[in-house]
Amino acid sequence: MSESSLSSKPDLPVRLNRNLNGYLGEKLDSVDGYLVEILKAARRLEFSATWLGDKIRHPNLELLWLRRKTSPDQPWVYISSGVHGDEPAGPLALLRCMQSGALPEGLNYDIFPCLNPWGLNSGSRLTSTGIDLNRDYKSLQTPEAQIHHQWFQSRKNHPPNYLASICIHEDWESEGFYLYEVNPGKLPSHAEFVIEEVARTFPVESGAMIDGMPAQQGIIRPEENIELREEWPEAIYMIAHQISLRNYTLETSSDYSLKSRVSAHCIALQTLLERLRLESEIL
Ligand SMILES: [Zn+2]
Repeated sequence: MSESSLSSKPDLPVRLNRNLNGYLGEKLDSVDGYLVEILKAARRLEFSATWLGDKIRHPNLELLWLRRKTSPDQPWVYISSGVHGDEPAGPLALLRCMQSGALPEGLNYDIFPCLNPWGLNSGSRLTSTGIDLNRDYKSLQTPEAQIHHQWFQSRKNHPPNYLASICIHEDWESEGFYLYEVNPGKLPSHAEFVIEEVARTFPVESGAMIDGMPAQQGIIRPEENIELREEWPEAIYMIAHQISLRNYTLETSSDYSLKSRVSAHCIALQTLLERLRLESEIL
């Protein structure tokens, strides 16, 4: 794909130039309302729904875990969103994908649609205790990370080890869509396919550096030993603990209309899931 094909399509959404020192767009009306809707959609798709929490230490915090195990022979995929509460397109895209039945058969799913409910309700990147949850998966200071970690620990003897984990985010500063691919075992890469599909309807970040890291055509493949980082995002936690064989972190620029960002994430997610399904059929 040439660079011009990423940026010169006349029908792509236009940057709003609204964000200033942070995200200044829409937020979710209510996280409770969101959770009601995604629960409805999940039940229609025959997902089980479980609320995780610690009623004694953190009575006001529950995390929703959705699971669909269609067949024990199918690979498992993990999807999360809502880690940063000022990035509403992720949870909304997951809702839309579930409402439209766009999650392909042939994969088993664990889904956490809303890992920072207080942040999403408030439109804040941080948790209620003022911590960036996506930097807390090593030190585990926040109740959100602790509850999530307990769940990962509880499944130790009953893995799925995920064929891939997918974390859905947004970036208030970026020019367009990009993704991180962490693939320590050099399994087949699906990053280019995702970028190519997204680029049809949403600008793709084309810079040689994104978020301080070298990038190519909107793809960042961290080279360093990521486990040595002082602060772990959810993605690195899953790779470091060998919970997930690969991780994709999807990022829209949040300086475009919410509708176009939700749509871009849906396209990215569906493309990736379909590729993973095909890969598992071939292997
Ligand atoms: Zn984020």
